[in-house]
Amino acid sequence: MGIKADKTNELKKGFEGHVLLPDEPGYHEARAIWNGMFDKKPAIITRCITTVDVVRAVNFGRDNNLLIAVKGGGHNSAGTAVCDDGLMIDLSLMQKVDVNAANRTVKVQGGCLLSTVDKETQKHGLAISGGIVSHTGVGGLTLGGGFGWISRKHGLSVDNLISAEIVTAEGKIVNASVTENPDLFWAIRGGGGNFGIVTSFEFNAAKIGNEVLCGPIVKKFENMKAYIQFHKDYIRTMPDEMTIWMVIRHAPPLPFLPKDVHGKLVILLPFVWLGDYETGQKLLQPIRDFGETLGDGSGMHPWVGWQSAFDGLVSHGARNYWKSHHLKDLSDECIDIFQSYALSMPTEECEIFIPHMEGAPSRIAPNATAFPHRNTPFVLNIHTRWQKVEDDAKAKQWAGDFHKATEPFSQGVYVNFLSDEGADRVKQAYTGEVWEKLVRCKRKWDPKNLFKMNQNINPG
Ligand SMILES: Cc1cc2nc3c(=O)[nH]c(=O)nc-3n(C[C@H](O)[C@H](O)[C@H](O)COP(=O)(O)OP(=O)(O)OC[C@H]3O[C@@H](n4cnc5c(N)ncnc54)[C@H](O)[C@@H]3O)c2cc1C
Repeated sequence: MGIKADKTNELKKGFEGHVLLPDEPGYHEARAIWNGMFDKKPAIITRCITTVDVVRAVNFGRDNNLLIAVKGGGHNSAGTAVCDDGLMIDLSLMQKVDVNAANRTVKVQGGCLLSTVDKETQKHGLAISGGIVSHTGVGGLTLGGGFGWISRKHGLSVDNLISAEIVTAEGKIVNASVTENPDLFWAIRGGGGNFGIVTSFEFNAAKIGNEVLCGPIVKKFENMKAYIQFHKDYIRTMPDEMTIWMVIRHAPPLPFLPKDVHGKLVILLPFVWLGDYETGQKLLQPIRDFGETLGDGSGMHPWVGWQSAFDGLVSHGARNYWKSHHLKDLSDECIDIFQSYALSMPTEECEIFIPHMEGAPSRIAPNATAFPHRNTPFVLNIHTRWQKVEDDAKAKQWAGDFHKATEPFSQGVYVNFLSDEGADRVKQAYTGEVWEKLVRCKRKWDPKNLFKMNQNINPG
């Protein structure tokens, strides 16, 4: 693998975290990522603890011409957190969270998971706008945009970013905010890990309390077409305080569902309401009343519990292949396609995942950050998930065919939901104007494309 022992020994000296070679304890745990499709073996892994560790790792990778992969939470389905042969810069030990309750701001280190942040912010009834699975990394999530249960009300993760500390390709530590390196600050709010390694993020947090009205309502799959025809219009009338997503999948064994529904195709409607209880219940009632409700798990639930409610369904290590795009509308033709692909799911772990967007993020100009597709009403994320290698071909075929069938209804894609789909597809996460600006920023901050294990913006 070509790295001389004296060089790694030199790196180990004074490194506060761990420098791991393939035969050393901890190496295999460190290289593991969420998506079990990737079994890559870096020549060296640096488990950083401090920003200075990150600087040393970047300098080491660059000076030894190593391919560099950066691991935040290790969650990206495209598997970009790990590489074969090169250097994996693992940030997962950098989990410090510092809450300023008076200002409602929070500083988090670059390797934090959402669960770590929620645990600290909830001590003050606060939450950052992030994703819906607690073992997701704040790093990758934020750099691609970041949306979840409170983003319709409070904006995307990038809309709440105040500043970041970044280690650049040159190994310099710089700050980025609206006043310091504003071009870099713009680029990291949607442009992914292309511009440097973020060692610390500072966010505005929202006061949401410790419990929210939330939970899933479960509807019958057999009424799917009529239900979605109602759902797509009704949820778009909701105030920003309400977020209702739709998941078509086989029912997990949820305690509030009758036993004979477990394992059957259903429409799961997880929601969060951030306003007063009675108004929320009133807004939800038409959903419960439309056709048949199979079960209702809603109520006032602890935020931390709700944030991890989906964790078990998407645990680490399974084989996953994601295909996604934004949808202009849920037209009848599109619903028919959902129905036919739901009935042909390759495994019972697959999901047709349809978040509702809009709200506060759509009131921000498309080019204000590097996350431009702000006006999309719905996202389609085809979560293809299975366990056995021998199912790889059929699972990928199903996802690919489904994606192609829904393409006529699509407009753009979320960069964080891309698989390895080629350079042209990465561009579709952006508008032409935003892409050109990203390329200019990349030329300035990483002209030799040191950070290329990502949805890459090639400086050309
Ligand atoms: C089960 C599941 C649920 C999800 N739910 C949501 C959701 O609700 N909302 C949403 O918006 N997204 C969601 N996502 C997508 C998620 O935002 C991306 O997968 C994101 O890349 C995960 O970040 P990570 O740090 O865990 O990933 P990693 O795989 O560690 O990182 C992905 C890439 O980001 C870059 N990167 C990560 N950290 C840093 C850093 N500190 N500095 C520089 N570069 C960095 C690197 O280029 C790396 O290759 C979900 C993903 C999964 C698998």
